Amino acid sequence: MELKLYDTLTKEKRAFRPLDAANVRMYVCGPTVYDFAHVGNARPVIVFDVLFRLLRHVFGDDCVTYVRNITDVDDKINDRAARDFPGLPLNEAIRKVTAATERQFHADVDALGCLRPSYEPRATEHITEMRAMIERLVAKGHAYVAEDHVLFAVSSMPAYGRLARRSLDEMLAGARVEVAPYKREPTDFVLWKPSKPGEPSWPSPCGIAAPGRPGWHIECSAMSMAKLLAPFGGGLACDDPAKNTFDIHGGGIDLVFPHHENEIAQSCCAFGTERMANVWMHNGFLQVEGEKMSKSLGNFVTINELLRTEKFGQRKWEGASLRYAMLSTHYRQPIDWTIERLAWARKQLSDFSKVVKQVETPSVDVDSRVVSALCDDLNTPDMIVQLNRLYSEVLHNRTDQRKAAKFKSTLDFLSLSVDELQPKISEREINSIETKVAHRNAARKAKDFAESDRIRDELAAMGVVLKDGKDASGNPVTTWEIAR
Ligand code: AMP
Ligand code: ZN
Repeated sequence: MELKLYDTLTKEKRAFRPLDAANVRMYVCGPTVYDFAHVGNARPVIVFDVLFRLLRHVFGDDCVTYVRNITDVDDKINDRAARDFPGLPLNEAIRKVTAATERQFHADVDALGCLRPSYEPRATEHITEMRAMIERLVAKGHAYVAEDHVLFAVSSMPAYGRLARRSLDEMLAGARVEVAPYKREPTDFVLWKPSKPGEPSWPSPCGIAAPGRPGWHIECSAMSMAKLLAPFGGGLACDDPAKNTFDIHGGGIDLVFPHHENEIAQSCCAFGTERMANVWMHNGFLQVEGEKMSKSLGNFVTINELLRTEKFGQRKWEGASLRYAMLSTHYRQPIDWTIERLAWARKQLSDFSKVVKQVETPSVDVDSRVVSALCDDLNTPDMIVQLNRLYSEVLHNRTDQRKAAKFKSTLDFLSLSVDELQPKISEREINSIETKVAHRNAARKAKDFAESDRIRDELAAMGVVLKDGKDASGNPVTTWEIAR
């Protein structure tokens, strides 16, 4: 089956031919870890997870390398750390913010049924490669040092603007380019900048005495090099243009300019290559009432809020429903995020789960029409049509176990696991559990531990797990959930 992908750079859908079929290489820009991820951020994570699964299916599980970075050096992180931990030294506060956000991000995307990428490099672990790349760019005349900054000289690269299809004039007019006295041209962008006292800093490249930190764009050029290109000396990839291109680079459409345009400029100029990646893929915006969901507009809902476990141990929305809803629109189109869409997804998955429930030995086969739909530039709306066709075939051939087994293995392949769709517990059961929890708390308060332990055991026998903790003011609180 031929896989076709749409390339933003050439604006065409082409047959995908990996540079090395034994190691298909994909890089996707990951999160900046300063806050909860919102549903818009979940879109690239889910879309490229589907692509990762498809590539593994087509080329083999061990033949795909997927890299998604973690940006853990950024002004937004510094601001959040200073705000949330005013009493701590900034660097310590930053580590707290990035570690907690990274943990939350993983919990969120695991619940959405996404595989972990092969590598998740953190920017702060690849400063050596960034410095090496910056020095090479300066040595080749593509970058210059000015007032302790290193800047990329856009005029040194005739092909600059090709991805975004903008002329220099358009970039100047439309972009939020920062005009600064140390820049030769307003469109020149920062590769390295000095750090303010107390901010994270590293020894600077190019003989700059003041310690500094990298610009945002150089991170991805350096991390994709470190994880996807053949290593050479001094933290750099080898200087052979033929070896310094990888297969697929992805991210949201908002990253086309300036982020990906600048990544291309850095990587192609450092290595003398024509192309940084052979295919550039971008997901469209997830919108709310026609507007992009974003932190700055305040119209966002976090993944965590949608998945949150409610008091009685059941999720508000299952990760699989969110994932299925996300795939109901083609990844390049805008998608409007609504509760109706989630409810539709839940209903579909709940129907599917009923007909595959009895399958004991799933087949290893994945339905070929589902794979064909995905091979057509990830045509997930068609994938959904094919899943519904399979569903109705299984429904009308209840005795054909092979069909049901194939449907189940196809759902497993897509990570649309429906085990989570369990029946809700009734109001009456909730009331009875709450009464027992209240009695136990009263017994604990009266130091009648024999009684409180007895009630805990009784609840445990009903499958209810108690969690004792403290609220914000330090008062003891007990929450409970149904053990699965
Ligand atoms: P950020 O943390 O803002 O850099 O975003 C992380 C990823 O989420 C990037 O690939 C963005 O393009 C993507 N993204 C952010 N907001 C949206 C949105 N509303 N719809 C689709 N993708 C988004
Ligand atoms: Zn990037």
